[in-house]
Amino acid sequence: MNDVSHFSAGISVLEISYILASVLFILGLKMLSHPLSARRGNLIAAAGMGLAIVATLLFHRKEGEPIGNIGWILAAMAAGTVIGWMIAKKVKMTAMPQLVSFFNGMGGAAAALISLMEFPHVSQELMMKSGMANGHVLAILLGLVIGTVSWAGSMIAFGKLDGRIGDLRVRAMKYVNLTILAAIIGFIVFIMTREVTASAELIHLVIILFGVAIIYGVLFVMPIGGADMPVVISLLNSFTGVAAAMGGFLYNNQAMLTGGILVGSAGTILTVLMCRAMNRSLLNVIIGVFGGGGATTATAAGSIKEVSVTDAAVLLSYSKKVVIVPGYGLAVAQAQHLCHELDKLLDEKGVEVKYAIHPVAGRMPGHMNVLLAEADVPYEQLVESDEINPDMPNTDVIVVIGANDVVNPAAEDDTSSPIYGMPIVRAREAKNIIVMKRGMGKGYAAIDNMLFFNDKTRMLFGDAKSTLQALINEVKAL
Ligand code: NDP
Repeated sequence: MNDVSHFSAGISVLEISYILASVLFILGLKMLSHPLSARRGNLIAAAGMGLAIVATLLFHRKEGEPIGNIGWILAAMAAGTVIGWMIAKKVKMTAMPQLVSFFNGMGGAAAALISLMEFPHVSQELMMKSGMANGHVLAILLGLVIGTVSWAGSMIAFGKLDGRIGDLRVRAMKYVNLTILAAIIGFIVFIMTREVTASAELIHLVIILFGVAIIYGVLFVMPIGGADMPVVISLLNSFTGVAAAMGGFLYNNQAMLTGGILVGSAGTILTVLMCRAMNRSLLNVIIGVFGGGGATTATAAGSIKEVSVTDAAVLLSYSKKVVIVPGYGLAVAQAQHLCHELDKLLDEKGVEVKYAIHPVAGRMPGHMNVLLAEADVPYEQLVESDEINPDMPNTDVIVVIGANDVVNPAAEDDTSSPIYGMPIVRAREAKNIIVMKRGMGKGYAAIDNMLFFNDKTRMLFGDAKSTLQALINEVKAL
């Protein structure tokens, strides 16, 4: 697909298909904004992509000629479809974030490959005409850098989410990253201001640029850990969208351009919202500076108090206001249906039950919304953590189910904690605190949680699913 010129035959059908595909992308994206319509939205957007691909294969013409190498293209698509299908079928719900990161990285890699492939063609074409770099060259260079950073960064994010790679925190890292970023911008300016006569020399520079972008992608994600991964994941997602949009600009392909712009802008909006929710600055995200000093000084101290299932059931049944804080452990245990059963039982007893939804609870943005929607928990029962926090002192019992970092007071108390500054669900302000988890395991940020040692806290140890089942039985028996 080295076509940067314009289409001829079949142009109207192709363009109409692209417009239709773009409309389907927009509709799909709109439907993704609500858990109830999200599944259908995903299918609609996928149908749009399918339409764009089929229309390109059938109607795209370059100088009157249809697409060549159809056999190879179909074989590659079949191989990709089978591999993608098998991975998606096998993946556990809790491993979705790794999968999303991996797939996002593949998008970035594809955009980078387009740039690597097209640079020689475009520079040759320009050499024959004006000899000067132009918008196409800029689109290629930006697509290359942004796509490569997204690919390399997503692979590191995949490794981290999968527990294969740890954090690498060195204070000087931000200066190193800033220097590399400046070098990348310098490279782009240098190439853009050179006459494209020495095409071979420039290709070497482009390959060096590719290498530097890989290093940047790796280094800017390496220090990120703890509670900050979601922000970087949405940023990488927006990078892939922008890189794909560059490809759309290069090929004059409306569907690719619209798709890229939608992913890029949605990812950017999500990144800005995440930054706000996590109290982080966007510049710090881009140069890989996160959280507090990195080594928390808070260590587990004090005694742990347990509660029996019967006592917990009595406490809940005779409360007026209960808030449930769902976390990653609830998803691991797949106990969302039981959780909803418990809240319905309490509701029948006249207890008001709400869910406190933290923006980074779980392992992907919106994880808890999706999980609870799966169990048909009414959307009105879900309240953002910053909205529910002021009501915490009036809450009789807060039930923390498989959540840890999102209720960790170190985010407010300990300036050296990697999660310092992150807003939390202020569980400690409730009158009574019940924490359901299997043991004293740490959360994603791998730090101790002093909430478990709070005087008002009672631990209800066990897998969330079996504990919730036992609790439901007790509440029914009361
Ligand atoms: P955490 O990862 O902080 O804690 C989860 C807790 O669940 C663990 O302490 C574990 O304790 C418990 N648990 C695990 N399995 C079970 C089970 N079967 N039954 C009961 N409990 C269980 O989760 P949070 O949701 O509080 O916080 C999310 C963290 O993940 C944040 O640090 C966030 O930044 C990070 N993150 C979020 C992403 C997102 O987009 N939302 C993406 C990447 C990272 P025990 O072992 O003792 O049972």
